[in-house]
Amino acid sequence: MTTRNRSRSSALAAAAVFLVASLTATGAFAHGPDPVASGGAFGQNQVLRFRWRAGSEPSTALKTAIKAAAAGVNASRASKAATFTYDAAGSSPIGYGAGATCGVNGLACYTRTVPDGFTMWFREQGHVFDWGTMKWCESYDAPPNGCYLAENIALDEFGHVEGLGHHVNYASGSDYEDAVVQTYSRTKPSAGWDNDVFGRCDVARLQMLYDVTFASSKFSTCLDMSTVLTISASPTQIVVGSSTTLVATLKVVDSDAYGRLGGNSVSGRTVTLQRRAVGATTWILVGTMPAGSASGTYVLAQTPGGNTEYRAVFATPSGDGINGDSSPAVRVSVTGCTAGATSALMASSILAPCA
Ligand SMILES: [Zn+2]
Repeated sequence: MTTRNRSRSSALAAAAVFLVASLTATGAFAHGPDPVASGGAFGQNQVLRFRWRAGSEPSTALKTAIKAAAAGVNASRASKAATFTYDAAGSSPIGYGAGATCGVNGLACYTRTVPDGFTMWFREQGHVFDWGTMKWCESYDAPPNGCYLAENIALDEFGHVEGLGHHVNYASGSDYEDAVVQTYSRTKPSAGWDNDVFGRCDVARLQMLYDVTFASSKFSTCLDMSTVLTISASPTQIVVGSSTTLVATLKVVDSDAYGRLGGNSVSGRTVTLQRRAVGATTWILVGTMPAGSASGTYVLAQTPGGNTEYRAVFATPSGDGINGDSSPAVRVSVTGCTAGATSALMASSILAPCA
């Protein structure tokens, strides 16, 4: 739900302390992905169809705002989260007005039932709360300060329906705009009042609940996941002059803490190959490893002239919620030939594998 921001009241201070304490007790962490709402997740890419509740249809302005928020979900989910579509025959009703079942200070509220659907309610323009009168910005040609953007509030509610809990902000509130799913939504003109797409910490939880769309999809920068990079050589023993193929595999560490992202193959990143002679300490850059055919693999063939160790390196990227890693070293042994091995001028074409 969404309630009014009474930031200057002592009531908020008490409520905020309680909120932080309760979330800490359940393992949520400050400034991470939004907490999880109870009730589980919908299916990946499930289409949730909503209709206007008969007898309680929103105003024209609110209908437009709610549809815009649904489009905002679909445009900014960056995951396989459920999508929202208006459908006059949809099973999930959205109502408006005096029938709202929200708490006394609720501007809007929701229920969710996985996998069937949801309900949602919005207070009517002009509703009188104990703190003042409800003003939806969309109800005005020139929205006054102090109005709530219904599109922003609807996005908070849609986020809850997806399974998001309210973002846990820093005490300073400096990260407020990392999420629109907020306990206290802001009014015009406070920063964040008109955000109309999910913030990165909303997206982070959606990705954990529903997975990213592709192995090459970037992870929300609200995430800070570890990766594991491995490398193999095939074959590991070659005759001088022949080649071996190095295959690096990049994955998100398979941790339950990462939800559906744990163990994911990670494609489309920059992985480089390094080499050193066996016994040497300094690594030498070979180059970038092109993408392999299998998801999360990076492949490069080499023709070492002597015993060589290789390792793959994934440097921590910017704009991506994963950290870098270096693979262990793999050793490639290079041997001479059988007949003709004593010739200093032998060409690779006359070599054969050693018996
Ligand atoms: Zn809310």
